[in-house]
Amino acid sequence: MHRLRYPFHDDVPLPGEAMTVAPGVLWHKMPLPFALNHINLWLLEEEGGWCAVDAGYGSDETRALWERQFTGTMGGRPLVRMVATHYHPDHIGLADWLATRFDAPFHCSLGEFAYARAVWHDLPGFDVAALNCHFAKHGLGADKVAQFVERGNTYHWGVPSLPVNFNRILAGDVLRLGGADWQTIPGYGHSPEHMALWCVEKKVLISGDMLLPRISTNVGAWGSDPEVDALGQFIASIERFLALPEDTLVLPSHGKPFHGIAPRVEALKAHHVERLAALRAACTEPKSAMDLVPVLFGRIFDLYQTMFALAECIAHLNHLWHRGEVRRDVDDAGVYRFHLV
Ligand SMILES: [Zn+2]
Repeated sequence: MHRLRYPFHDDVPLPGEAMTVAPGVLWHKMPLPFALNHINLWLLEEEGGWCAVDAGYGSDETRALWERQFTGTMGGRPLVRMVATHYHPDHIGLADWLATRFDAPFHCSLGEFAYARAVWHDLPGFDVAALNCHFAKHGLGADKVAQFVERGNTYHWGVPSLPVNFNRILAGDVLRLGGADWQTIPGYGHSPEHMALWCVEKKVLISGDMLLPRISTNVGAWGSDPEVDALGQFIASIERFLALPEDTLVLPSHGKPFHGIAPRVEALKAHHVERLAALRAACTEPKSAMDLVPVLFGRIFDLYQTMFALAECIAHLNHLWHRGEVRRDVDDAGVYRFHLV
């Protein structure tokens, strides 16, 4: 299997600065307050200004770095368009702040826009209560449920405000950005309606979180659609990227730009096949998703990591369940137990 190639090696943009990775396409990085400590953002040079793809997490640190970009990298020219790949806080966090400041139109898919608002406003089904109900059915203990309740809506931490309106991006749309055509490629399983952007002319794919070089994208089943086969959706989505040319430069949201779509897609598929096999092997007796989290992730203590690990474990179990490889029964305590068929 071919390895990935990283054309920029050890060159990375410094905080508040940017690096050209393709004609008119600039890479800049912003900090994140998590174990995953950075996000890559992209600036496309437009006539008379810039198009920003993704906005960064809503922190003072990110705002201060954007201020440096406004005068430095952007040379005082305005943002004329704001595009978000998806609704997660590190991507959409400062989108409203940026779009409002420059009176720039905001673009994203309906799935992401609507989901962002539903989560932000704690709508029933998208709130902490729905998540806790879902997690409790999968074996999360009452102590952890209480901690989630106490923590409240963490989406606000990274998304202080959201744009009140948007320009809807549809799957397969061609957007004219920075004087070039960018085709949208929808992705599912990580977020409701993620949009990657593919430029034929530049042979560049802005992959968002749907194709990352080093880490495996989080694929989860959450409170709003608890029985979703998110893993099946994710695998089918990344297979779409195989249609792109082999020499495509992939610009991921985390990690370094790389060449090698096919080997990366194959490696991710193999990774999930291996994890499904490990879960099957552990389901010789009825087990809850919470019992099975250590099979995928080892021991986890942190509440934030528990949330993603459990959602991901449920997504894997849902995949096996939808494929008829495991049964799902309910025990006396009302907890789902998965068992090999
Ligand atoms: Zn994401």
